[in-house]
Amino acid sequence: MNPEQNRRQCAACGEPEPLFTHTVHKNSGFRQLCTDCLLKEHRELFCPVCLNVFVDVPPPQARIICLNCPSITHLDCYRPPSSSAASSSSATPSFTCPPCSDPNFSFFSSKFRPPSSDQSGEINNDDGSESIVEYESATALIAAANIAAVNMNNAAAHLKKEAVRKILEAKLAKKRAKEAMVILHDLVLKQKASEKGNPNKRKASDR
Ligand SMILES: [Zn+2]
Ligand SMILES: [Zn+2]
Ligand SMILES: [Zn+2]
Repeated sequence: MNPEQNRRQCAACGEPEPLFTHTVHKNSGFRQLCTDCLLKEHRELFCPVCLNVFVDVPPPQARIICLNCPSITHLDCYRPPSSSAASSSSATPSFTCPPCSDPNFSFFSSKFRPPSSDQSGEINNDDGSESIVEYESATALIAAANIAAVNMNNAAAHLKKEAVRKILEAKLAKKRAKEAMVILHDLVLKQKASEKGNPNKRKASDR
């Protein structure tokens, strides 16, 4: 297999050539993910409907949490499915986030279709449907890029702290080695002195 070929491969879904890749630090390693997988792996950090990344997690009265995963949705963004809306009471119904509700759900469409003409020759600019797809994917891309940036900033801070800790450890180890050398040197001098003063004692101590 050509290693060049898999340089951009998503570590989660295995997509060999995602349109965009994001690098995140996880479990003391770096992972390269496509936009959709990055968002699915960081569900607790953004609202899956408006795709806004949380600066502060919304308070309990303003959010709804998925039954299956840590995904948090703004209560204002939540739209109950029409079928259950009729039957459900005013109480907040059980909620599953879009990726949990639909296994084929994707936050990011990798197919950027040009908003010009389709096969029938119609131009889609009027209804705006093509531009909505693009807008959602662009919003997902921005959310993913923001999450990856925060993650890498945290990783950099963590690695810097680690590096400082390792430097201090290395300094301490060096100091201890130096002290040990001094002690060893003293012992050698003492032994030499005692050998000079009492040559017979050396044989006894050797045994
Ligand atoms: Zn992926
Ligand atoms: Zn929202
Ligand atoms: Zn979920």
